[in-house]
Amino acid sequence: MRPIQKSKKLADVCYDIRGPVLEKARQMEEEGHKIIKLNIGNLAAFGFDAPDEIVQDMIRNMGNASGYTDSKGLFAPRKSVMHYTQQKKIEGVTIDDIYLGNGASELIVMSVNALLNTGDEVLVPSPDYPLWTAAVSLSGGTPVHYVCDEQQGWQPDIADIKKKITPNTKAIVVINPNNPTGALYSVEVLKEIIELARQHQLIILADEIYDKVLYDGNTHTSLASLADDVLFITFNGLSKNYRSCGYRAGWMVVSGEKKHARDYIEGLNMLASMRLCANAPGQFAIQTALGGYQSINDLVGPQGRLTKQRDLAHQLLTDIPGVSCVKPKSALYMFPRLDPEIYPIKDDQEFAYELLAEEKVLIVQGTGFNCPTPDHFRVVFLPNTDDLTESMGRIAHFLEGYRRR
Ligand code: PLP
Repeated sequence: MRPIQKSKKLADVCYDIRGPVLEKARQMEEEGHKIIKLNIGNLAAFGFDAPDEIVQDMIRNMGNASGYTDSKGLFAPRKSVMHYTQQKKIEGVTIDDIYLGNGASELIVMSVNALLNTGDEVLVPSPDYPLWTAAVSLSGGTPVHYVCDEQQGWQPDIADIKKKITPNTKAIVVINPNNPTGALYSVEVLKEIIELARQHQLIILADEIYDKVLYDGNTHTSLASLADDVLFITFNGLSKNYRSCGYRAGWMVVSGEKKHARDYIEGLNMLASMRLCANAPGQFAIQTALGGYQSINDLVGPQGRLTKQRDLAHQLLTDIPGVSCVKPKSALYMFPRLDPEIYPIKDDQEFAYELLAEEKVLIVQGTGFNCPTPDHFRVVFLPNTDDLTESMGRIAHFLEGYRRR
């Protein structure tokens, strides 16, 4: 029989957060090992429950949610997203500009699929949340990575972005607050990105899914609130701000210079129609979440569980010789650097395998986030303080052995 092969479209598509190292961890669990998983920002798995009012609302609405909805989504939750855009000072958004999806992920893939032809380039941050690179590749486009500068708290390097714009560049992806670095971008940097988009007629794809997971009293500015003469697509959802990843409730908002984007918007509408609609129970939850008590603020306040765990994990990691880490201002992750003089890692996936085998701790290697050098890794700081202390202790022990090699 002829071998059945995957599509060539997948040749450059990669999603290492759920990649081969996780597969190895699964096998080890089947053999009876207990693994500490620092690999995925899945809040529920660490006891961060969804707000009860959202859960109750889902249960109450289940009976009304068995039919298809409008392709873009139900009116009431889209209206609540519209109010949210007003709170974030994004101007001129109508109900028609709002699309609900099965998480932001579905809409991210849709937004690039509707846009790209073979050879079109999209500027994507490095490091990035790898769905972006994968989605651009899958759509036939070419991801071109721009540098986020660790020395500058992982802010995007504007000069590098400028250098990488070509006549084929269609869009720029901005992940703010950032996964995996925890950076929160300054308004100055955001304005500089907008200026480049304006000059080169780029669409701005703004992934703002962590916009309420902010520490130390920081506030978030939506890119789309800073201009109306550039086309913005802003992505958000319930997964992180409302600890509801499993409900698969996300949205995307088209704003700014819409007049010249009619054809693209037609493409978005076509793809939204083709997948019929987002899951209806998840749609109902959006309205309740956005209008309800914002309990995320309790978790990220000075005494909040997430703040305490961030502080502890950062302290424990940076106490290890040769490990440095920009302290996250936002989101759920740390992206530490291993000094290559002390840890001469050639293959960071191999490094992750070894850590897993020796210490039963699962991390994601930095190259999985399109980091160009094998000297970073990502951890979540979601486990409770006892488990964090245990896991950071195991990482420290592993690195001690690595130094003696
Ligand atoms: N964007 C970023 C930056 C993320 O970190 C994630 C999930 O981790 C997503 C998008 C996907 O979110 P959703 O659960 O809404 O699909």
